[in-house]
Amino acid sequence: MSDPQTALITGASGGIGYELAKLFAHDHFNRVLVARNGTKLAQFAEELQRQFGVTVKTVALDLATAPAPQFLFDQLQREHINVDILVNNAGYGRFGEFAQMPLDECLGQIDLNISALTTLTRLFLPAMQNQSFGRIINVASTAGFQPGPLMAVYYATKAYVISLSEALANELKDSGVTVTCFCPGATETGFSARAGNDKTRIFKQFGPMEVKKVALDGYRGLMKGKTLVIPGTRNWLVTESVRFAPRKVVTAISRWVTEEPK
Ligand code: NAP
Repeated sequence: MSDPQTALITGASGGIGYELAKLFAHDHFNRVLVARNGTKLAQFAEELQRQFGVTVKTVALDLATAPAPQFLFDQLQREHINVDILVNNAGYGRFGEFAQMPLDECLGQIDLNISALTTLTRLFLPAMQNQSFGRIINVASTAGFQPGPLMAVYYATKAYVISLSEALANELKDSGVTVTCFCPGATETGFSARAGNDKTRIFKQFGPMEVKKVALDGYRGLMKGKTLVIPGTRNWLVTESVRFAPRKVVTAISRWVTEEPK
């Protein structure tokens, strides 16, 4: 195992990924930070290096493009950077009816939330298995526990992330590699501005959780090697309750929560 350990964090220029990166820095992990906005990443890296004295490498990359995850893996291999902790955090959603959603936005969510996450996990896992140590955290969402009318593709991508992560956690049991599926509910980040769902009931009426608290819950769960982490009691109750209600009712309530109030 390399010492100090290195964490690769996707989507580290803002929101949950940014807060996770700060927690890793505080605990003196070296970090590789990835996002599209290289300027923002570089400023953040400098801030962390100054504050915590850790090594920070930044890679400006659009992970939704097909070759990007492999390109990232190859670059780190060439530079002999061993990744001990993989944080698959980059993701986005879009609000609107499926039939009106531009096709590139439908597929873009799949490319980033599913394909990039799966590719990075598959590429970095073997080295973790070889060293009998590794931690992977996949950022899903409470959205993944039920269908989501008006954000149908986003909810479906997060259902995939939950299913994949729980299956891998089982396959890797006793290997020294843990897989944590992290499922925040609505959280105060740049997510809703990009998704266009900031006026919906879930954000307006129920209110998002504070991002620092969310990230801390995820970080602690990851470090303990927990398989499923759902921050916030209300979020936990929602994910539990949908297991017992009829699916049509669950879908109707999910739509109501996702709608903009009149
Ligand atoms: P955010 O504030 O929008 O941050 C997203 C991060 O991902 C940014 O650093 C962004 O940087 C990066 N990113 C976006 N597209 C990318 C791409 N194509 N390639 C590389 N990086 C990209 O959103 P967030 O709330 O922190 O979201 C983080 C994760 O939490 C996502 O997987 C999201 O689905 C999940 N989540 C969020 C909420 C919520 O309510 N906020 C709830 C549940 C789950 P650039 O723009 O510079 O690329």
